Amino acid sequence: MKIADSSTSAVSLVESSLKRIEETKDYNIFTYVDKNRALKKAKEIDEKIKRGETVGRLAGVPFALKANFLSKGRPADASAKILTEFISPIDSTTTEKLEAEGAICVGCVNLDAFAHGSSTENSYYGPTSNAFDKTRVAGGSSGGSAVAVALGCVEFATGSDTGGSIRQPAAFNGVFGIKPTYGTISRYGVVAMASSLDVIGFFTKAAEDLDILMSITAGQDPKDQTTLPDFYGKNDTPLNKKKIGFIKEFMESSALNPEIKASLESKLNEAKENGYEIVELSMPTLEYALAAYYIIQPAEVASNLSRYDGVRYGFRSSNVKSLDDLFANTRDEGFMRENKRRIMIGNFVLSSGFYDAYFLKAAKVRTLIIDEFNKAFESVDAILSPVSPNLAFKIGEKTSDPVLMYLEDVMSVPVNLAGIPAVAFPTGKSKDGLPLGLQLLGPRRSDKNLIKLAGKLA
Ligand code: GLN
Repeated sequence: MKIADSSTSAVSLVESSLKRIEETKDYNIFTYVDKNRALKKAKEIDEKIKRGETVGRLAGVPFALKANFLSKGRPADASAKILTEFISPIDSTTTEKLEAEGAICVGCVNLDAFAHGSSTENSYYGPTSNAFDKTRVAGGSSGGSAVAVALGCVEFATGSDTGGSIRQPAAFNGVFGIKPTYGTISRYGVVAMASSLDVIGFFTKAAEDLDILMSITAGQDPKDQTTLPDFYGKNDTPLNKKKIGFIKEFMESSALNPEIKASLESKLNEAKENGYEIVELSMPTLEYALAAYYIIQPAEVASNLSRYDGVRYGFRSSNVKSLDDLFANTRDEGFMRENKRRIMIGNFVLSSGFYDAYFLKAAKVRTLIIDEFNKAFESVDAILSPVSPNLAFKIGEKTSDPVLMYLEDVMSVPVNLAGIPAVAFPTGKSKDGLPLGLQLLGPRRSDKNLIKLAGKLA
């Protein structure tokens, strides 16, 4: 990551970022560009450097915010119509920490509305294109973040990962992405999707950059009661067994793209040559992870999205004759189809009579998945796995079939259900020139060591 110093000015870093944003406009990456504020901040940093004052660890580094992060004075609409007129009155803790170290936000990037999706096609602003093939999806939900980094618009971008939203677009665009241990980074000021699954993470071009960003943003936040006391860099879980596992059920899955499978096999071989013992793990409960996820997640979505009623935030329907109309029409016009689908499913699985059959059962499956990972990490340091069974697919290919889209997440959601960390990293290109990526999964609080290991394997 290039940091501003006496030889490179923050203004020149920001100017080249803005130029690149302009050049890549047709990918539909940015939903908002904050040119004047970015340049003003860059000038301030350059003056500080000139005066010999200390500047932060990210001085002058241009970055993009996934548009579900709140940043004072900027729009934070989560690419959803219902939030379009909403200007953020606060800073998310992550934004605040990054800016305090001198990082410069150049704008906000596209996502599936409310982070519901696996392709960034569910956005009010339309799809973002893949960095390597404009006819293909960026992945999602943090598609804008991944493409902004892959095409060099910014040095890093923020993301949120509820079921794969950082790792899958990272894999689709050939960049690094971290989904930290649940509770590592404060979620204060980030639009909530599913609160027992959501985590904050980053996209970068190098593993070392993930480490810098984690060391700045990890830690307890009184404004987010789910944050863990800071362990990053202090008492991380060591990974010293010299054993890497792979999941037999994923490796043998007929849904797995053969080029991704070959890449997994070749990385396992490389690890073996580097002195790691490779262990086959059977994890039969993971078969139920997707079903459990698509019960727990919509249940939490239904609850989190109930606050958007046309009274408190952003957009309000103009077709209002009664209070009921205000709520119903605002929600009908403001939510995307996929948002509504999740609200309906969520309320259904929580309703009396169905709660035991769906939500409670899914919660029990979740415990079994946690147990299965705990057991696996007794015998291996980390697990190498595909992120998704597929390479970046064509725009429009899966939009008419929600279940097909949900199947994209089959290998990423177990990580969120278990609350463990995972790092996605690039492993080369397919024969058609599309990025290949894998993810490395580790036990809770192994984040720093996992980043190191992913950096070695990449
Ligand atoms: N693709 C998954 C979903 O649509 C995950 C989304 C996310 O991580 N935000 O639920």
